[in-house]
Amino acid sequence: MGQHDDPEKAFTEFFTGPYRDVVQDLDEQYPDERSLRIDWHELDAWDGSVADEFLQKPARMRQFATNALNRLEEASVLGANVRIYNLPEKQIVRVGKYRTRQLGKLLSVRGKVVDMEGVTPYAEEAAFECPLCGTLTRMPQSYGDLMKPNECMGCEHSKPGFRFKREQSELVDLQKIVIIPPDSNLEEPPGSIAFLKNDLVDMVGPGDLVTINGIYETFTGQSESTLSTYIEALDLDIKERTEIDTYGASEIQEFVMDALTEQITTVDDFAVQRSDIVDAVTSEHGVRREEVEDQIDALIEANEIGAEGSKLFDL
Ligand SMILES: [Zn+2]
Repeated sequence: MGQHDDPEKAFTEFFTGPYRDVVQDLDEQYPDERSLRIDWHELDAWDGSVADEFLQKPARMRQFATNALNRLEEASVLGANVRIYNLPEKQIVRVGKYRTRQLGKLLSVRGKVVDMEGVTPYAEEAAFECPLCGTLTRMPQSYGDLMKPNECMGCEHSKPGFRFKREQSELVDLQKIVIIPPDSNLEEPPGSIAFLKNDLVDMVGPGDLVTINGIYETFTGQSESTLSTYIEALDLDIKERTEIDTYGASEIQEFVMDALTEQITTVDDFAVQRSDIVDAVTSEHGVRREEVEDQIDALIEANEIGAEGSKLFDL
């Protein structure tokens, strides 16, 4: 055991002791700034066993930290998110190289964003109303099908045809992204799904290099014995973000033409897949996929290149 037995009390002392200034900064900027980022190494220097417990039981420890932060007398940041970064070397894992024993643990995964979905409302806790007696029952949710209660707490009817109540549910912003190893040469490299929540949404785009500090999890409601997994992001390091808008439209168009010329000479049927060109420009110049797509559209519009069928270019 370390010096603290009660985790919530430990975090209260950490927030009012060594992390006092960081908490103060958040307090001043709240709610524009909504997250408190804990440097794991600072936590470790303060209390090694609390820091180690954060790696082993991240979901639980984060809840303790959040409770401590929300109840601080020194700051009023109710609803702020606790995030953790700068994890020790041993937690750093290559995309797709996780092991079963790492399930539920805190990992640091560095990858390249290759796919992303739009931001959607997600019910962390859904409220259901019984149509028979009006009692409200709350159910914590996980990604996938909406989980309804089995029985009404009020009239004890089983499955009375519960109605989902949005206003009484706890909704947050959610975004799903897919990352791959940043340096993979494979045609279809192993991808990992990561979920970003709250103020982590809308921060990255395709092509960005990110470090995700998060919990390795299995989806609930599995249909096969080989389980599908995801990373629940607790923190997103975007310092390695691909510089965007570095190139102007004409430069990107030049990249597209160069990639076309290069590919035309290597294929036999004098036609190049549009996606190959996008891939080439994205990986060679670090331009975002949408920007490349935009400029290809512009070139097609200007009749610089053809667009028959799936063929981008037809000599
Ligand atoms: Zn009822």
